[in-house]
Amino acid sequence: MTTSDPGKAAGAPGEPIVTDVVIVGAGPAGLFQVFELGLLGIKAHVVDTLGHPGGQCAELYPDKPIYDIPALPVCGAQELVDRLLEQINPFGAVFHYGQEVVGLRQQGEAGFLLETSAGTRFSTRAVVIAGGLGSFQPRRLGVDGADAFEGTQIHYRVRHAGDFHGKRLVIFGGGDSALDWVVDLTGKAGSIVHVHRRAEFRAAPASVARMRELVAQGRMSYVEGTAASLRTADGRLTGITVKCADGSLVDFDADHVLAFFGLHPKLGPIADWGIELEKKALKVDTAKFQTSVPGIFAIGDINTYPGKKKLILSGFHEAALAAFAIAELLNPAKKVHLQYTTTSPIMQRRLGVAD
Ligand code: FAD
Repeated sequence: MTTSDPGKAAGAPGEPIVTDVVIVGAGPAGLFQVFELGLLGIKAHVVDTLGHPGGQCAELYPDKPIYDIPALPVCGAQELVDRLLEQINPFGAVFHYGQEVVGLRQQGEAGFLLETSAGTRFSTRAVVIAGGLGSFQPRRLGVDGADAFEGTQIHYRVRHAGDFHGKRLVIFGGGDSALDWVVDLTGKAGSIVHVHRRAEFRAAPASVARMRELVAQGRMSYVEGTAASLRTADGRLTGITVKCADGSLVDFDADHVLAFFGLHPKLGPIADWGIELEKKALKVDTAKFQTSVPGIFAIGDINTYPGKKKLILSGFHEAALAAFAIAELLNPAKKVHLQYTTTSPIMQRRLGVAD
């Protein structure tokens, strides 16, 4: 069986990384796919838009308990992700975080060429799309004209904090990201106005207390309200008007506006890859979990078939069957026999537990 070593797979600069399998999405289904492929001796590259693994579990409900994972009467969502990472550790998958897979096209017999938003390219023989509800995107500011300034003067993530030093900032949001940046940039930015829509914060109480201290010291301002409209001049953003809790409108000068309203999943580029869709999900068969394009598989919340249930458990089962199908695809001449981890010396060697 061909198994490229993902660690050695990167070609010369500009060359695509050559591999057997790329998994799109590092949610629970994508992570378990690494395991099922690993048992069969197949290594994989995994790409996720998020900067960390875990998909919905890590992003939407890390502290909530899950009660329907087999043999774990209760398991925290982040704990599940941590356990999966530990379980797949022996298989040496290569993770590419903070990159969205934006392009996927067929390369004749050779398989597929994938490209990410960061310009990473993969030449791969099989693809597993484990994209869940889609890639996580920041919730936008929601005022007219904001798109035109996105990435230049309106930001939903901080790439280089130094860009904001000495600048007039208006920072929106009541979660940890907003509060962390308010506290971090106070004293470094030229001025900071922090805006949040209500009196309660989702952020850690210690960060909120620190923000209130900074306000009391006159080092920054805080306003309860929402963004109403942008102020512009000569094609540049010059400030933002905030509708305050009492209904009044207040103008703030700003060089940059930072908004941290959390992330939400959006199907995104997956819909453009020419794969048959049904109600925003990829249609698959239930023997291989292959899509309408041979060589492209789909597991977890992203797929649909008669009786589909969007449960973590379903993604795990689908990953197991997709792995067998991929093993056959990569080496059609070789029959893939079912082996038990309990008794298979070869699987135990792959797991690193053999004597
Ligand atoms: P996701 O977890 O959605 O992960 C998909 C990943 O793919 C994401 O990280 C995304 O960024 C990435 N991605 C998508 N498109 C791209 C792209 N183009 N490029 C790069 N990356 C991409 N299920 C249960 O079984 N039991 C429960 O108790 C339970 N409780 C839940 C509670 C809540 C509040 C929620 C929201 C869900 C719950 N679920 C539960 C559902 C469960 O979380 C999902 O079924 C599971 O997360 C699906 O896993 P997945 O790997 O298919 O997708």
